[in-house]
Amino acid sequence: MEAAVFDNLPKKVYIREVGPRDGLQIEPEFVPTEVKAEFIRKLAATGVPHIEITSFVHPKWIPALADGKEIGGMFAEMNGTHTSALVPNMRGLEGAAEAGLKEVSVFMSASESHNKANINRAISESLKMFSELIPAIKKEGMGVIAAISVVCGCPFEGEVPPEKVAEIAGELVSYGADYIMLGDTIGVGTPIQVKRLLEKVMPLHDPQRIGLHLHDTQATALSNVLAGLEMGIACFDGAVGGLGGCPYAPGASGNLPTENLVYLLHGMGIETGIDLDALLEVADWCQRMVGHSLSSNGLRAYLGRKAAKKNAAEKNATGAHG
Ligand code: MG
Repeated sequence: MEAAVFDNLPKKVYIREVGPRDGLQIEPEFVPTEVKAEFIRKLAATGVPHIEITSFVHPKWIPALADGKEIGGMFAEMNGTHTSALVPNMRGLEGAAEAGLKEVSVFMSASESHNKANINRAISESLKMFSELIPAIKKEGMGVIAAISVVCGCPFEGEVPPEKVAEIAGELVSYGADYIMLGDTIGVGTPIQVKRLLEKVMPLHDPQRIGLHLHDTQATALSNVLAGLEMGIACFDGAVGGLGGCPYAPGASGNLPTENLVYLLHGMGIETGIDLDALLEVADWCQRMVGHSLSSNGLRAYLGRKAAKKNAAEKNATGAHG
């Protein structure tokens, strides 16, 4: 009899598609608002349960998402799809509340240098700010996803101790965060590291409300997904096509492509609610949207299959096969 190696895997996984926010935020060319809107509608049509649609960060910081208000207003509510937007502070919260968002994410880093470089605050200052911001979000009746960056490694400080991440996660939970997303922002983590980190963080919160945001810099993202699944994690971020990079890893693959995540999960009998072929079509469309090719190997394989099928059909049609 076959050994039941993967008996404890979740039956269903909740995927947050972060392409429209995390993916587009580093694109040098501004994607027009109506094209972003089309992107979000296309994603929703694939069945993805959650889309992070934009950010309420000041346009001076992230010009690519300067239309956060418009996009927020358009997609604060979607039939059958949860949506959220990133808010960095009280002003961002005001914008998100005005737009009618039901859920927002807040973010900070697990290392001092990255937090300083990214949001110009010490960790203690970020925590102090969130001890006010998170209750304020809850008061608006919105859900809070608290994202912690560089949980496996920092571009300035190297490896980040899991205890440090757990300490921050515990604080954010105590302020009222509904979800904790652990981000391997520079994509340096390995499965053992991810498991050690989860061992520290999982006792602090409902494991169903802890998720992983992985990057594929070292091609370890899916191995880290598996490590998470084995620990009982059932929430993962992905960016279609692998949209988005990492400013600290120039030229490297960025976010874990959602289609690669979905392929792995479906192949292991885990439900996502997503139509994989439809998602791959969106990934291909995204290449045209941003005007360059995307790093996803799932997408490349899909396009290869499609081209081969088309060739075969053409050969058949002309009778030139043999
Ligand atoms: Mg990311």
